[in-house]
Amino acid sequence: MFDGALTTEGAGIATTAEFCVLASGSSGNCSVLAVTVNGVRRICLIDLGLSPRRTRRLLHERGLDFHQVDDCLITHLDHDHFHQGWVSGTPHHAAMRLHTRHEARAGRFGLFGRPPRVFEQSFQLGCGATVQAMVAAHDEAGVVAFRIDLPGSAVGGAGGTRPASLGFATDLGHVTDGLIELMRGVDVLAIESNYCPTMQAESGRPWFLRQRIMGGSGHLSNHECLEAIHRIEPREHVVLLHLSRECNCPDLVASLHEGCDYTLTITSQARPSRWVRIGRATVSNRGTVAPTPPTLPTHASPPLATMPP
Ligand SMILES: [Zn+2]
Repeated sequence: MFDGALTTEGAGIATTAEFCVLASGSSGNCSVLAVTVNGVRRICLIDLGLSPRRTRRLLHERGLDFHQVDDCLITHLDHDHFHQGWVSGTPHHAAMRLHTRHEARAGRFGLFGRPPRVFEQSFQLGCGATVQAMVAAHDEAGVVAFRIDLPGSAVGGAGGTRPASLGFATDLGHVTDGLIELMRGVDVLAIESNYCPTMQAESGRPWFLRQRIMGGSGHLSNHECLEAIHRIEPREHVVLLHLSRECNCPDLVASLHEGCDYTLTITSQARPSRWVRIGRATVSNRGTVAPTPPTLPTHASPPLATMPP
């Protein structure tokens, strides 16, 4: 249940912010950014890779109403990030945010039923958060990574105050210097840790499929993810996304992050993650922090779609 745990205050605006991954993996991806500004809670969904019914149910189970959704950010249009159930009509009360690079494909397939809000680099969400976007390599059309700076939040530090921030990057072919710069120093970093190269090599998958995943335009390995995290230096929390069911293991992944100076959450296909507070460690001295309910990640469920699990 969402409890609006964190409050930061800046410029007379009180902001609470938490992040939860409803599901992540090759069978469907959807994450929730819940932001409450001056007592009004707004929701931004990142990807719509679950069915409308499941998305509504999971939100409801977390004390959230689908009608609180202001924005849906779409990283790309692969079916595990945009479920076909949304094709016939996306919610009218929410803005569908799509990169210009994906606009033509969306039009060809008649997605959304109405024009999406297209973006290229930066824009504002309904809750007032500022989003910076960049395209990364993934298959032909690429994928979009986001840095989201929260409205009215002012978390302290030696260098003064700054907005609390969330970085979100999944389905990355490879990590670029530009991505590192975009994400550097975010409070919470959600990033994919897709596969173990050894398990990939021993999987029996055909060469072309392994090449698609590991060839620089597919997904990040566990070690590529770890190296990116070390360069980005997230301040508080790392949320690992899109673990392969066949070619990865949560226990193996957890062992790679032992001794790290951030809190770790490993997401699952099967059940939502815990709520992750954004800006907790450096909350302003007027802020308050309340406990969040633990929701432990588990192993992935069987795949529902055709993407390599
Ligand atoms: Zn994916």
